[in-house]
Amino acid sequence: MVGPLDAPESLAIINDADYTEENNLVIGRTLFSEEHEVFRDSVRRFVERELVPHHEAWEAASKVDRSAWLKAGEAGLLCCDTAEEYGGPGGDFLYNTVVIEELARAGITGPGFVVHSDMVAPYIASFGTEEQKKTWLPRMVTGEVIGALAMTEPGAGSDLKAIRTSAKRDGDEYVISGQKVYISNGQNCDLIMLACKTDPAAGAKGVSLVLVEADRPGFRRGRNLKKIGLKAQDTSELFFDEVRVPVTNRLGEEGRGFPMLMTKLARERLTQAIRSVVVAEQAVSWTVEYTKERKAFGQTIGDFQNTRFKLAEIATQATAGRALVDRCIALFLEDKLDAVDAAMAKLYATDLHCKAVDECLQFFGGYGYMLEYPIARAYIDARIVRIAGGAAEIMKQIIGQRLFENR
Ligand SMILES: Cc1cc2nc3c(=O)[nH]c(=O)nc-3n(C[C@H](O)[C@H](O)[C@H](O)COP(=O)(O)OP(=O)(O)OC[C@H]3O[C@@H](n4cnc5c(N)ncnc54)[C@H](O)[C@@H]3O)c2cc1C
Repeated sequence: MVGPLDAPESLAIINDADYTEENNLVIGRTLFSEEHEVFRDSVRRFVERELVPHHEAWEAASKVDRSAWLKAGEAGLLCCDTAEEYGGPGGDFLYNTVVIEELARAGITGPGFVVHSDMVAPYIASFGTEEQKKTWLPRMVTGEVIGALAMTEPGAGSDLKAIRTSAKRDGDEYVISGQKVYISNGQNCDLIMLACKTDPAAGAKGVSLVLVEADRPGFRRGRNLKKIGLKAQDTSELFFDEVRVPVTNRLGEEGRGFPMLMTKLARERLTQAIRSVVVAEQAVSWTVEYTKERKAFGQTIGDFQNTRFKLAEIATQATAGRALVDRCIALFLEDKLDAVDAAMAKLYATDLHCKAVDECLQFFGGYGYMLEYPIARAYIDARIVRIAGGAAEIMKQIIGQRLFENR
């Protein structure tokens, strides 16, 4: 039975309730090789040993200890697909997928490894100069340098081209002024990949990406924001007050930031979809385990047809989501995942994520409202997934636009 998590080691119970081939709840996955599965075992052990026992302390501190980043780097969990010549293991995206899945499976929502490995490092690897790659990637692989991606501002989130943070050219330097908000890894980060305007009059064509080191004069971290969930993750305001960086800190061409963001946002959305399907699967597993034991009116909660029908529906949708997301991972590996595929995967998986944790929580009754139960934690951590990384409505806009193209 999935019981209260009053001792940290009892989090391990979550993993015992996983979907397995034996209980046949997931259609066979064909993406992963034996090497990936060996890696999965080591990641799962690392998560149980090095992350799960600290989760509550990180929640209380509202951030993850830097030592966890260094340990994760040493264990090979960071930037798995970074090339060997830049200090990485040179794996494929499936290794990153394994890390995303195992963190989600254990309910570890504190460490911003995914932002770092799947949202910051890929920009540097794809668009960075040789010098930028050699300077940053090896230390991102070890966890010595923590990355953040700063796009959102108090006045502009979904409408990215409306950002106002500016980078004005002054000789061989940019002078950066502005403010960002809700930035994951904001308190811990050493390197910020900043979306800013190098030409404020040019709309989307005026957006550039600039790497800003967190020790530059004029850079300041604001509040570590209080959130309804993801309490172990640092999410911050960042302030830039005439921060000077050399123009060689720019990533790619000036004014080409928007198309660069558009190519990489598909990966960000895929990572969220991967996470969301795992949480939906876990919610069903926890609920089956719990309702097999809990009794009411002389039978178990799992004996009520309503329970079985509802869980059957969610399990079926999770399996459909798994098929969609695995197909998107396969497309990504072939460099064929487009913005619409990624938007569909994010839209479907995040809706399912929120629905699954809400409906499954119901079967736990009052216990489902208690934070020592994983379903309660999953519930409060879920709400953000339909907002961050592109709101559900933005996903629908991307999909709808394609539907009406050429008609
Ligand atoms: C915990 C957390 C972590 C985050 N991490 C990061 C990070 O690391 N880096 C970063 O840059 N940002 C980050 N964000 C910001 C996040 O990506 C934005 O909150 C999100 O993109 C929405 O932008 P917004 O908050 O400005 O909402 P708005 O753009 O003001 O939109 C509000 C709502 O309006 C509706 N809406 C907006 N546009 C449309 C439209 N075209 N059609 C129909 N409806 C629409 C949607 O319902 C939307 O949710 C994070 C946010 C949170 C809460």
